[in-house]
Amino acid sequence: MSKVAIVTGGSRGIGASISVALKEAGYTVAANYAGNDEAAAKFTKETGIKTYKWSVADYEACKAGIAQIEADLGPVAVLINNAGITRDSMFHRMTPEQWKEVIDTNLTGVFNMTHNVWGGMRDRKFGRVVTISSINGQKGQAGQANYSAAKAGDIGFTRALAQEGARAGITVNVVAPGYIATDMVMAVPEKVRESIISQIPVGRLGEPEEIARCVVFLASDEAGFITGSTISANGGQYFS
Ligand code: NDP
Repeated sequence: MSKVAIVTGGSRGIGASISVALKEAGYTVAANYAGNDEAAAKFTKETGIKTYKWSVADYEACKAGIAQIEADLGPVAVLINNAGITRDSMFHRMTPEQWKEVIDTNLTGVFNMTHNVWGGMRDRKFGRVVTISSINGQKGQAGQANYSAAKAGDIGFTRALAQEGARAGITVNVVAPGYIATDMVMAVPEKVRESIISQIPVGRLGEPEEIARCVVFLASDEAGFITGSTISANGGQYFS
C-alpha cells in the first residue's frame, strides 16, 4: 500500500510541485490549503490530488483536518510543512499583527501540524517530516524580521525534534530555498526581481520542481540516515 503524505499549502507554488512530485513517486497525497478555493479546484482537476481546506495557524483545525485525511486515505507517514506567508515591512513600521500572522502561520503552523501527526508516527515507528524554511531564515533579511524569525525558528525546531524522533524511526529535516519563481516572488516589482536575480550566482530564479526533488529525496526510505539537516537550494547565494 502506498504511503500517505500531507503537503500544507500543497495546491499552489512550491507546495503544488511537491504534491505532484510525491504523487509521481508513488505516495497517496493530500494537499492542504488556506482559502484559495479556485486554485485548489483547478489543482485537483489537473492532478487528481485531493485538497483539504483549513488554516495551519489553527491547532484544532489541524487536528480535525489530519483526522479527516487519515479516515479518507490512511495513516500519515510523511508531513511536508510548506504553507507560508509574508507580511513584509521595515521593523520600525511593522505592526504586531504583521508579526503575529507570520509567526502563527510559518512557525506555530509547523508545531500545530507536526504535533498532530507525531504520536501516530511514533506508534508506527516511521515518519518523515520536512519543513520548508528559507534562505532568509538562514541569513536574515531586512524588511522581514517576522519571516526571518519564523523561518530560523523552523530550523531550530527541526534540530530539536530530530533528536526526539531518531529512535522512533522518524526523520525531521528542512529544505531552505533561495528565490523560487512562484506567485510570492513574481508579485514583487520587476526591477526588484532583476536585482534579486543579479545576486544569485547561477543567474536565475529556482524552479519549484527543484525544491520538490529535494523533498522527495528526504521523504524516501533511502534518506533514513539524514535527520536534523538543512538542504540549502539557493543557486549558490548563501552557504550555511
Ligand atoms: P505561495 O504563496 O505560492 O503559496 C502558498 C501556499 O500556502 C498556498 O497554497 C496557500 O494556500 C498556503 N497557505 C498560506 N497560509 C496558509 C495557512 N494559514 N494554512 C494553510 N495553507 C496556507 O508560496 P510559495 O510556493 O512561494 O512558498 C511555499 C513555501 O516556501 C513557503 O513556506 C515560503 O515561505 C517558502 N519559500 C518560498 C520561496 C520563494 O521564493 N517562493 C523562497 C523561500 C521559501 P491558498 O492557496 O489557499 O492561499
